[in-house]
Amino acid sequence: MDHAPDTSSPQSLHRVVVIGGGFGGVRVVQGLRNANVQVTLIDRRNFHLFQPLTYQIATGALSPGQVAYPLRALFKSAPNVRVLLAEVSGFDLAGRDVLLADVPEIGAPTSVPYDTLVVAAGSSYSYFGHDDWADIAPEVKSLESALTVRSRILSAFEQAELTVEESIRQEEMTFVIVGGGPTGVEVAGQIAELARDTLRRNFRNIDSRDARVLLIDAGDRLLSTFPPSLSAKAARSLERLGVEVMVNHMVVGVEPRAVTVAANGAEHQRIPTATTIWAAGVKASGLADELGRAAGAEVDRDGRVTVERDLTLPGHPEVMVLGDMVRVRDDRGGVVSLPGVAPVAIQQGQYAARLIRDRLENRSTPAFRYRDKGNLATIGRARAVADIRGLRLSGFLAWWVWLGVHLWYLIGFQNRLLVIIQWSISFFTHGRGARLVTEPPPKADEAIKTPGRAARAGAAASASRGRG
Ligand SMILES: Cc1cc2nc3c(=O)[nH]c(=O)nc-3n(C[C@H](O)[C@H](O)[C@H](O)COP(=O)(O)OP(=O)(O)OC[C@H]3O[C@@H](n4cnc5c(N)ncnc54)[C@H](O)[C@@H]3O)c2cc1C
Repeated sequence: MDHAPDTSSPQSLHRVVVIGGGFGGVRVVQGLRNANVQVTLIDRRNFHLFQPLTYQIATGALSPGQVAYPLRALFKSAPNVRVLLAEVSGFDLAGRDVLLADVPEIGAPTSVPYDTLVVAAGSSYSYFGHDDWADIAPEVKSLESALTVRSRILSAFEQAELTVEESIRQEEMTFVIVGGGPTGVEVAGQIAELARDTLRRNFRNIDSRDARVLLIDAGDRLLSTFPPSLSAKAARSLERLGVEVMVNHMVVGVEPRAVTVAANGAEHQRIPTATTIWAAGVKASGLADELGRAAGAEVDRDGRVTVERDLTLPGHPEVMVLGDMVRVRDDRGGVVSLPGVAPVAIQQGQYAARLIRDRLENRSTPAFRYRDKGNLATIGRARAVADIRGLRLSGFLAWWVWLGVHLWYLIGFQNRLLVIIQWSISFFTHGRGARLVTEPPPKADEAIKTPGRAARAGAAASASRGRG
């Protein structure tokens, strides 16, 4: 096995390997900056992505460089930190090695040894056993996919302008968002504003305000993790923007130019649409399952591995797992499912760094405790809902809170400044600076996909946890 050479630090230093430069992993490395350890951060992307704003890339409000920040730049002044751009494929827990996906053509190492390992590889959207839906209904979690969504939304208006067929125009002008969690609500609000406001008067053959935006969720209300009163306010705000909110509707089929929904006791309804966007459930990175199997730890149906109260993998005190990948054991022997949100990953990342420092200095560390700071979701321009420790806000005030929190957590001073400038310009001009089509529209595939059992079961569980 070829180990990754490291000539930057003395060999005797304690080696901490962190997988994932997302919210959790970055906080671990920041907490170990200048500590007496040698840190290796491995990510398959060379940037930290601020996922809470990727939907704004998808709707042309922000550009990629405003919400992503190079990991190498983030740690350039921390001499004890090195960054490796590589995909982790597995672990040798007994040999204390992280295994890297093979890149033989450049003679890269195939493993990285560690004394302490922290795994924070996050999650991805789950299509509930219907991975073939992913190409038809892209999500907005990754930068690449958000760019695909942006091209599809904007292309749909372009195709509608071009076509002479009324039925095709209607398909192009119909946007379906699956999943009524915060992400679905945010995406639906943004597309409605794009159609009603930003694109108004941009076309000659169509009126962009005729676009239909449908937000579909299997549950009985939007934003199921918020209090019902805020869910109702969010639904009303969306409807005022022209979004058709379809709760109690389960998506049972996704085809290239249609989705099929089922409501209790009603006939299946087929909705022709050229653009379907997926914002339903999430599943943990496959590395969680890998670790669970290797350590004999529990893995739940969302792929999250159960870790001890100090976030260590059962039987492996030298391995910590955190963020979207885990459920945590509580002091009564039960298991806590924390929400799949950034504050959980951030606090766990900070905790992991503290535990590593404490161990090296022979100090004990109390168990991890999550401090819930509340829930936020924005609904288009100048509207949001916020539930902050029982304080329920909506409308303009909630939107200011949302703005402040997002700017606070955005990494990099330059990104904060750019986003403030961009949002201010957009607020006053009603414009969107990044309305660029960078991918060709998808070709309609004639094959009709039959709704399967897995899909029905999965869609029923849509928006079950986390942001969805
Ligand atoms: C569209 C969207 C909107 C959201 N909005 C909000 C919000 O408003 N507020 C909020 O609190 N939360 C929000 N969330 C949730 C939040 O982004 C996540 O909970 C958080 O990112 C989890 O942090 P993490 O460190 O566990 O994983 P991530 O931040 O996802 O980081 C995982 C990292 O691991 C890397 N990685 C994964 N697999 C490998 C591998 N095999 N090898 C190498 N590297 C790998 C990835 O490239 C990534 O950089 C949103 C999520 C989405 C998708």
